[in-house]
Amino acid sequence: MKTETILHFNKAIASQKPNNIHQKRACPFCETEGLSEILDSRDSIILVKNKYPVLQDAFQTVLIETDECESELSEYPLEHLYKLIRFGTEKWMEMEQDSRFQSVLFFKNHGPLSGGSVRHPHMQIVGLNNTDYRDNLKEDYFIGNEIHSSNGVQLNLSTKPMIGFTEFNIILTNLNDIEQASKYIQNVLHYVLNYFNGRGCSSYNLFFYHWLGKIFIKIVPRYATTPLYVGYGLRQVFSNPQDLIEDIHKNISF
Ligand SMILES: [Zn+2]
Repeated sequence: MKTETILHFNKAIASQKPNNIHQKRACPFCETEGLSEILDSRDSIILVKNKYPVLQDAFQTVLIETDECESELSEYPLEHLYKLIRFGTEKWMEMEQDSRFQSVLFFKNHGPLSGGSVRHPHMQIVGLNNTDYRDNLKEDYFIGNEIHSSNGVQLNLSTKPMIGFTEFNIILTNLNDIEQASKYIQNVLHYVLNYFNGRGCSSYNLFFYHWLGKIFIKIVPRYATTPLYVGYGLRQVFSNPQDLIEDIHKNISF
């Protein structure tokens, strides 16, 4: 089957989308009566169809993480964190079994520089009809200096990042280790939001990849993308990665 490498974005639908990151507007995910079609739920976690499916040739869903609007993934009690990541991973892999899709994206945007538009904690699972995201991947993107490893799961800091500078990777081969991976996600997000660059970073993206029989997870603190990457495709890394790794261990207990 022919694979599309460019996704088509519908601007007319996007312009109807509520945006409450900058404006104080009613939260579309708090009014559960107003949600579009509910696909599944587990306690306060709800998977719904995206009301504003801006991507063509795709099935877009939203995973509402909690009914607490002001909460954040980095702050959930472990029990809720495990439940969320398990449920999300299950739904993602269920969609991967659907023959309509060439691949399925599972990701989260948080903060004003993340590309997200709604504050309420949520993730997205998106089936792509004509595109396989794995065509763009290289194993290099997930190798790095080890920060921590435990129970068959590794957390590292990219040495050959996808875009540049700081990218954290979590790698697991066995889905039974998803709780350890969830803990690493929470550790890194807590560090990014509170300590990164001395005072924390407002925004991040979290991406899941199912590839080569493994699950790769990438966390990227977000700020203006380096012009050398935008204009020349040149990727940069910090010359002293050990300083960042030491700072993480100083502030986060694994
Ligand atoms: Zn809300």
